Amino acid sequence: MLNKLKLLSLFLLTGITVFAQDQYLTAKSEDLEKTYESKSSYSVKEFPQKFRKDKPKNIILLIGDGMGISQVFAGLTANRGHLFLENCKYIGFSKTQSADNYITDSAAGGTALSAGVKTYNGAIGVDVNGNQVKTILEEASENGLATGLVSTSSITHATPASFIAHQASRGSYEDIAADFLKTDIDVFIGGGLDHFTKRKDGRDNKGYEVETNLKKIEKVKKGKLAGLTAEVHNGRVAERGDMLTVATETALNILDNNKNGFFLMIEGSQIDWGGHAGSTIYVAEDMLDFDQVIGKALEFAAKDKETLIIITADHETGGMAITGGDMQKGVVKAAFPTGDHTAVMVPVFSYGPGAEEFIGIMENTDINAKMKKLLLGD
Ligand code: MG
Ligand code: ZN
Repeated sequence: MLNKLKLLSLFLLTGITVFAQDQYLTAKSEDLEKTYESKSSYSVKEFPQKFRKDKPKNIILLIGDGMGISQVFAGLTANRGHLFLENCKYIGFSKTQSADNYITDSAAGGTALSAGVKTYNGAIGVDVNGNQVKTILEEASENGLATGLVSTSSITHATPASFIAHQASRGSYEDIAADFLKTDIDVFIGGGLDHFTKRKDGRDNKGYEVETNLKKIEKVKKGKLAGLTAEVHNGRVAERGDMLTVATETALNILDNNKNGFFLMIEGSQIDWGGHAGSTIYVAEDMLDFDQVIGKALEFAAKDKETLIIITADHETGGMAITGGDMQKGVVKAAFPTGDHTAVMVPVFSYGPGAEEFIGIMENTDINAKMKKLLLGD
């Protein structure tokens, strides 16, 4: 009995320590996270495929960090056979290799999508020589379009950062936050409050309405908004709720005021963290959250008829393999041979005017070139 108690307390202590050190991990033991069992599912709408022109006025780029085919299929099974993603009739594959590595990280992967250059792992908006490279968000802004970034991670984390910041290293969070304030971005919503407010240099967020409460963020319809809903990263779905959906709707409301159009990047940040943790549950719940955000973007685009939607990933995470499941019951079992990123191609899904350009096998940098040609004509 005493031994059992000792073991139990040791187990509890270990669990708590792991949780405190790294919030990407789960407090539950890994085995409990291998099988996802759905408790509910949502219905998926079919949107019309009719658009006003050949070229888009707006682009919404949705990046599922670490989202390979298995992550998509885990979500599809978890939702009992369907995803909003299925509205995308044009599908391609993206080769994700970085300039210095067969396996990219999110900084080089993000910079390839944001600026169209292959760079070294860890680089945020700079090339292999450390020179700043202009991003599609910055070019859109210079051309009078509205711009926005939305993520569940800290907004200063590698993926969103690579669209707006220029730093030699992804870990320079305060410098990345300072880069946000050098630009003309209209709306950014995510975590990362500490990187803006607890700064050593005491810089403030001039010109932005800063809101930390989702209920207040939701009410902002115009002007410039910095929505910072967590000190660093937002929690898992159980904790953050529909934060990403609300943030997406808010960003679309604000950006749609600009008659010249807009560029918006939305990241489902934590699909990647589920892969790193080897957790089927984490991957599936974040994939379902991301797909419902895709649904909101599609709803906007279907009504607007001048918006191009691209959904892709920066890389795959975990080498996720679906090893069992039940489509009717929404059960998914998976195995993860690695806790790291993998080299495989990732899917590219698109909907709207210009979507037909994003088919076949392409480099991740080609996605940027195609978006730039369609949105800015260069
Ligand atoms: Mg990311
Ligand atoms: Zn990762």
